[in-house]
Amino acid sequence: MSESFPALRPNAFRDAWCGQVLGDRVDSEVRVAGWVHRRRDHGGLVFIDLRDRTGIVQLVFHPDSSGDAFELAHKLRAEDVLSAAGRVVRRSEETVNAELPTGEFELAVASAELLSDADTPPFQIEGFSGDVGEDARLRHRYLDLRREQMRDALVLRHRVSAAMRDFLDGDGFLDIETPVLTRSTPEGARDFLVPSRLQQGSFYALPQSPQLFKQLLMVAGFERYYQIARCFRDEDLRADRQPDFTQLDIEMSFVDVDDVIAINERLLVHVFDRVGGPALDLPMRRLPYDEAIARYGTDRPDTRFGLELVDLADDLAQTEFKVFRSMIDSGGAVRGINVGAREMPRSALDGLISRAQELGAKGLVWAFREGEGWRSPTAKFLSADELKGLNERLGAEEGDLLIVVADRPKIANAVLGQLRLELAAEFGLIPEGSDDLLWIVDWPLLEANDEGGWDPLHHPFTAPAADFDPDDPGATRALAYDVVWNGQEMGGGSIRISDSAVQRDVFAALGIDEAEAESRFGFLLEALRYGAPPHGGIAYGLDRIVQRLAGAESIRDVIAFPKTASGTDALTGAPAPIDDGQLREVGLKLRAQPPPSRP
Ligand code: ASP
Repeated sequence: MSESFPALRPNAFRDAWCGQVLGDRVDSEVRVAGWVHRRRDHGGLVFIDLRDRTGIVQLVFHPDSSGDAFELAHKLRAEDVLSAAGRVVRRSEETVNAELPTGEFELAVASAELLSDADTPPFQIEGFSGDVGEDARLRHRYLDLRREQMRDALVLRHRVSAAMRDFLDGDGFLDIETPVLTRSTPEGARDFLVPSRLQQGSFYALPQSPQLFKQLLMVAGFERYYQIARCFRDEDLRADRQPDFTQLDIEMSFVDVDDVIAINERLLVHVFDRVGGPALDLPMRRLPYDEAIARYGTDRPDTRFGLELVDLADDLAQTEFKVFRSMIDSGGAVRGINVGAREMPRSALDGLISRAQELGAKGLVWAFREGEGWRSPTAKFLSADELKGLNERLGAEEGDLLIVVADRPKIANAVLGQLRLELAAEFGLIPEGSDDLLWIVDWPLLEANDEGGWDPLHHPFTAPAADFDPDDPGATRALAYDVVWNGQEMGGGSIRISDSAVQRDVFAALGIDEAEAESRFGFLLEALRYGAPPHGGIAYGLDRIVQRLAGAESIRDVIAFPKTASGTDALTGAPAPIDDGQLREVGLKLRAQPPPSRP
């Protein structure tokens, strides 16, 4: 990772960075400071690799010329903090270390001072091996962050956010902070709550996003806002989730969908150019939501490979196979994927069935095309015509593996969408190093939930594309868009409702009655009545973007101090019980005794 470093003001600790001990300093005196990366005793000489943020330089301690420092060198251990001064010399040809930028030079130490004595670290920094458990790494995160890979990830993170700021600053966006102690800003997760001491019985919610504040900033006339903002969502954790995470949050006034998309495409190009991300062809592809679901089973499709979903209901209109018949009659879906010519033993096929069940489907039908029909336990339930029709519909060639799921459409899509990814990974169908970024557009505004009500696909403040018909909430499309990168949602946003009456109608459709709307969102409804410009925006998951750019396995690897998979901070021990006095101060009493605190 290339970083530039300013000249140092010489002081008692150092006058040069370790990474700057290069040819232009040969024969000059320098003082460097840093951590002992490695020590080697060699034929009466002691070699120390000294590390600071810029890199590593080799120090040589000589019994004749290093004075007291030679004694000290013998006692140094990994991670001690040292300041050393001496002359920069060119290494002899056989001792050049081609791995290090400073590898042609070394410092012949004349004096050195131990600035801090280090305990033996719980794991090695130099020679770190991948089998150190993540718990240990997180518990001693300040040591883990000394590793080059972690440092590079955080440097990259900084460069990504700096490039974002730079672009937005150039385009007239203002960086404005919004509160962390606030009221609920619903983004579909549970709120984290903070009890108020001054108004006992009342709680702040930590923002799930700055959504409502950025809208208020548009009402206030700022027109272009951004913030690299902390967001808090109390939801079940997965590999790509943290309870507190970071968004690049953007909002603009007097814009339509194309304006927001255009500026964001330029933003992405700028950031990727700066940090070495994928090259983008503009305009980026736009895929309508319905098509994404129909072809990939998901609103965040990985379109780098085929294995698309195919609807089979037409070919089964007359079927007498009970499983398919009852599903079709009850409004369900029968969908399939042609997995191609794959060998799969019976046990693996059974594995596919259990995997489908694990994902929520009742079952899965597998088949291999054989002649005009199928080799499959299900073949005997289907007519010859049906099999022929299915083969054609799935584009099946002799020997191709076909999988079919009959279920409620949502489940059939979700299960096949997931199996599609897993099969692509298993059979290596995703071209190495390939990238695909696209927009998902033309979303429905609301979707039916299992309780007979409606939920927003984005959030309740998303503008309908046409007049909202409260009698047919499911029919309305939304002015919303998501950016998807290799099957992961990187960001999403929408044009917002800027009319108070429409906002009330949408609240009502979501089951939020007048009184509740007034008590929870009265401030927004009121603001919308004082001259709200048309406005819209987007937010990106910064952690995910950096994770992908860094090629890291988890977002935890690009966050300085992340939480573990169970939402705890292994370093500080948060969350932690509080004592009775603190509870009393905020007027709370626990219903159950907390378990004893962890050491
Ligand atoms: N507030 C939204 C979110 O956090 C993004 C947006 O609509 O701008 O997903």
